[in-house]
Amino acid sequence: MHSSSAPPPDESTFFLQMIQSQLDRSARIVELPDHVRMILSQPKNELIVNFPVLMDDGSHRSFKGYRIQHNNLLGPYKGGLRFHPDTRLDECKALAMIMTFKCGLMDIPFGGGKGGVKCDPHALSEAELMRLTRRFTHALGANIGPEYDIPAPDVGSNAKMMVWIMDTYMNTAGYTERNAQQRVVTGKTLECGGSQGREKATAQGLVHCVTEWARDKGISLEGKTAIVQGYGNVGSHSAMILARLGVSIIGVGDHTGYMLNPEGFNTHRLADHARKHGSIEGYSKHHTATRDEFFSQKADFFIPAALQNQIGAPEAKMLQVQLVAEGANSPTMPEGEQTLLSRGIDVIPDVLANAGGVTVSYYEWVQNRRSEKWHIDEVEERLERAMRHTYQKATDFADKQQCNMRTACYALALERLSHAYVERGIFP
Ligand code: NAD
Repeated sequence: MHSSSAPPPDESTFFLQMIQSQLDRSARIVELPDHVRMILSQPKNELIVNFPVLMDDGSHRSFKGYRIQHNNLLGPYKGGLRFHPDTRLDECKALAMIMTFKCGLMDIPFGGGKGGVKCDPHALSEAELMRLTRRFTHALGANIGPEYDIPAPDVGSNAKMMVWIMDTYMNTAGYTERNAQQRVVTGKTLECGGSQGREKATAQGLVHCVTEWARDKGISLEGKTAIVQGYGNVGSHSAMILARLGVSIIGVGDHTGYMLNPEGFNTHRLADHARKHGSIEGYSKHHTATRDEFFSQKADFFIPAALQNQIGAPEAKMLQVQLVAEGANSPTMPEGEQTLLSRGIDVIPDVLANAGGVTVSYYEWVQNRRSEKWHIDEVEERLERAMRHTYQKATDFADKQQCNMRTACYALALERLSHAYVERGIFP
């Protein structure tokens, strides 16, 4: 029998609705003017492109790409490009919205954007990936730009791909203006205009938040344990930095499976393996575990650093940790967060915990603009100051308003955006 009702929304639509509900919750706390809430609940621009790519076997395939420009009140649109088979329009809309709030919270003069290509980068050769990235850049055309919309790496994309975007974009600019285009993307390699410290910046920012959390609790990180989901850029660097501070990484997982080791993994060797093979698969036969065993593992910290919607109510009931620090964007669903908080597990939300990435992306953009190269110490000092300052601002706000950290972070971002909207008014 056919039902006349609309089909249920897919996972990416739920994701978008979840971020819109978070906006509404925080809007009430700061008494956000309704027209500002209305503007922020949808992106300004939604772009979909279909473009052909020449494959190694001589055939042509068509790929679908997205770029969402959520808001540019505080500065140019800014946000990563996701290369993943499940990339969807609503997912990019949700992620672009998160970027607006992240930049507002960190007081970085950027807006929010996000995009990606529906593809499996692991199934493409390097030459195919390069042609795909360049064709996508060409298809986006003037919809990106160093003062307009500045992409960066995200799931499935990396520094090398940012350099291909930069090169393609620079080659389409006027001959005499070519150099000024370098900052059209951030997260580039060091040799091609990237910043010292950018590759590990997201993880480093997350660890600064964990350190602040531990300081507030009066505990030391030395001798603590952590489990990490996702062992790509954010997951592997978080594991390596935490290990340097004396935290033992006793559980890891990625799209190929999970592993547990009570002795702690050698985080560097595992990172080398994951870089070389594209996953943690094959690292060790002796430590394999199921997803449920991974989530039930007793540890001090859980670092989700893979995809969104990983911690629903069932996972939140299984977790036996003191703190969840969100490296990934939106890994915790609302029921998951409620369960965690009711069990006394603290959550440092994505907009704060993973904001180190966009913060150092901003430093890269400034360096490119001024033709400067900052020393790693300068980047690290600035990042540490920014993360610690914002962490304390968010905890103070949460204490004062008696709300959770996520609501506090969104509310602080909304205050920043709201002041600008109210002072500027709506043109004309
Ligand atoms: P990445 O592509 O380098 O790594 C992604 C990891 O997630 C891989 O280890 C992959 O195997 C794993 N993964 C994918 N699907 C999975 C699944 N179904 N179950 C378990 N693991 C799975 O990406 P990244 O740059 O490290 O990004 C990870 C997260 O951090 C994303 O949510 C991204 O939006 C967020 N983030 C990244 C940055 C950055 O600077 N790269 C900044 C802010 C936020």
